[in-house]
Amino acid sequence: MKTIGLIGGMSWESTVTYYQVINESVKNTLGGFHSSKIMMYSVDFAELEKNMSEGNWDGNAKILAEASKRLEKAGADFIVIATNTMHKLVPQIEKEINIPILHIADATARAIKKDGHKKIALLGTKFTMTQDFIKQRLIDSGLEVIISDEEDIKTVNEIIFNELCLGNVLDSSREKYKSIIKKMKEQGAEGVILGCTEIGMLISQKDSVLPVYDTTLIHAAEAARIQCE
Ligand code: GLU
Repeated sequence: MKTIGLIGGMSWESTVTYYQVINESVKNTLGGFHSSKIMMYSVDFAELEKNMSEGNWDGNAKILAEASKRLEKAGADFIVIATNTMHKLVPQIEKEINIPILHIADATARAIKKDGHKKIALLGTKFTMTQDFIKQRLIDSGLEVIISDEEDIKTVNEIIFNELCLGNVLDSSREKYKSIIKKMKEQGAEGVILGCTEIGMLISQKDSVLPVYDTTLIHAAEAARIQCE
């Protein structure tokens, strides 16, 4: 079994799900007492959140590259970054290490294409929705990506940072997400990517008129699959 180098804490609420899903997947694959070999570097999210709000992406790249180097040195076979937004920094982190990073967008694109969908809605932080680091990767894999309008981007982003990353799950916010997903269906989306690792705390398949692709569940299951190869 390969060893996963998991970079978590962004937020820790969603890293809990990663840990659980990876272990459940390994157990399902290998049976018995098998569990996942994981080394985790869990960051202090306050430092990263401050850097993000100040636009100091280089500061975050430094923190995550350092975490990756330590995991590589400790014997990790590949890196899993347990957040979508920090995948913006993958090119910078990759330069610092000699082991691969399992990209969250690649795992997600594979799952969507397996189901035969082409036109897909993307929900996530304002960075994920408005910048190219996830979106372009999905487009390059052959998908068509639909993004909400400015007002809905603001709503989705605020709920992530002001509520979900702090562990607050509110029914009123679930209703807002549900109606945003409905709008995206009207625009022709065939499925919706929960492209932020905390959205699964708020939205599951029963809340959505579109098939849901939860990046946390997909990324974690793919990590376990590769680990057991
Ligand atoms: N976990 C979130 C994501 O998947 C947002 C927090 C972060 O900025 O890392 O994008």
